[in-house]
Amino acid sequence: MKGKIIILSAPSGTGKSTIIQRIIEHPELRLGFSVSATSRAPRGEEQDGREYYFLSPEEFRRRVDADEFVEWEEVYPGCCYGTLKREVERVTSAGRNLIMDIDVKGGVNVKRCFGENALGIFILPPSIEELERRLRGRGTDSDETIARRLGKAEYELSFAERYDKRVVNDDIERASEEVAAIIKSFISENADGNEA
Ligand code: ADP
Ligand code: 5GP
Repeated sequence: MKGKIIILSAPSGTGKSTIIQRIIEHPELRLGFSVSATSRAPRGEEQDGREYYFLSPEEFRRRVDADEFVEWEEVYPGCCYGTLKREVERVTSAGRNLIMDIDVKGGVNVKRCFGENALGIFILPPSIEELERRLRGRGTDSDETIARRLGKAEYELSFAERYDKRVVNDDIERASEEVAAIIKSFISENADGNEA
């Protein structure tokens, strides 16, 4: 495989999408975003093929049965998300490093699948109180959805130690730079783990 795999995980609302938006155009990193498929409905300004491939639950299931996913998870009850094999191929065959925003179980599976060719970065919120403020401030989720996402945060945080690197998103500018520096160092490593 030409490109490397960068996995970003964190409880919902921590700031993964914001960090990815800020570093995706960084010329030295040569990143390509892995557009996941989901069975949930679009939120806010989201567009099919940009944030996600929005599939009906039936279509999602059909693709699971056809073995089209590298991995998939029912991240929230009734809402499935997954990385299509075709998507990994699309980005890496163009010589880009694939950056994926996926949940903790998916992240651990992808790391297992791609080994040394993948780097897992876990983004931590400064506190649970701040996480709740961010989820509310985003203004895209109902109270029920926010409660469900907060309820899952503690479980998700317990996966942090299984990732290669951890970054606290206290200040968005600082955290984005730290993530970019970690990726830069990883993509310039040789297969033996030394800097090229
Ligand atoms: P995720 O992708 O992890 O679910 P988002 O990137 O959508 O999270 O961020 C959730 C909300 O928090 C957004 O409104 C975003 O603007 C805000 N946000 C992200 N990082 C910070 C930060 N360091 N300080 C304050 N607000 C932030
Ligand atoms: P949201 O609904 O806020 O966009 O995303 C919800 C969760 O699904 C996030 O934790 C996100 O990382 C995760 N997610 C998005 N795409 C994938 C994917 O392809 N696979 C897995 N396992 N999780 C994903």
